[in-house]
Amino acid sequence: MERIYIGLGSNLAEPAAQLACALQAMAALPRTRLAAVSSLYSSDPLGPPDQPRYANAVAALDSELMPLELLDALQAIELAQGRVRKDERWGPRTLDLDILLFGERMLDEPRLQVPHYHMHARAFVLYPLAEIAGGGLKLPSGQPLQALLDACPFEGLEVVGRLPGMAVTP
Ligand code: ATP
Ligand code: MG
Ligand code: MG
Repeated sequence: MERIYIGLGSNLAEPAAQLACALQAMAALPRTRLAAVSSLYSSDPLGPPDQPRYANAVAALDSELMPLELLDALQAIELAQGRVRKDERWGPRTLDLDILLFGERMLDEPRLQVPHYHMHARAFVLYPLAEIAGGGLKLPSGQPLQALLDACPFEGLEVVGRLPGMAVTP
């Protein structure tokens, strides 16, 4: 059983509902428990600016799935919720599920890099992650999450509430 943190994002087709639906789907994965969910955040879009704001949250899973099994399962959930893969990077999408941390693992495989390569620079990942994991969490590099937060302003980010029926804490 390993503790895994997932970053959720959506900016199309009722984003908050997309995240709630994805949480239910992750909770239903085999050999997996949904352990915690952050508040619901709203953030400025990355990439093309002419797209709606994002809904974001971070969830903690306790799972016995192997990393690539989990990636396959998350991509299946993205597709089931209407994710269309386009050439444009960071364009609007119904659902994005990124593996931020997978236990203490450092993975560099063609389909999967963990810790997520850009989490250190994304307020919409770091603040919800700290909410459920605490600033004392250490990355596999040994770096405390608090050091990343100190270097990443709470900018373009808003706490907008909780996801319905998801007041799950560690
Ligand atoms: P970004 O990765 O910058 O957040 P994105 O989430 O929009 O962009 P996607 O289109 O969702 O990118 O994913 C592109 C590919 O990234 C996926 O097909 C997947 O194989 C790969 N990938 C590598 N590392 C991870 C990870 N930690 N979590 C999820 N996908 C990953
Ligand atoms: Mg992403
Ligand atoms: Mg992604």
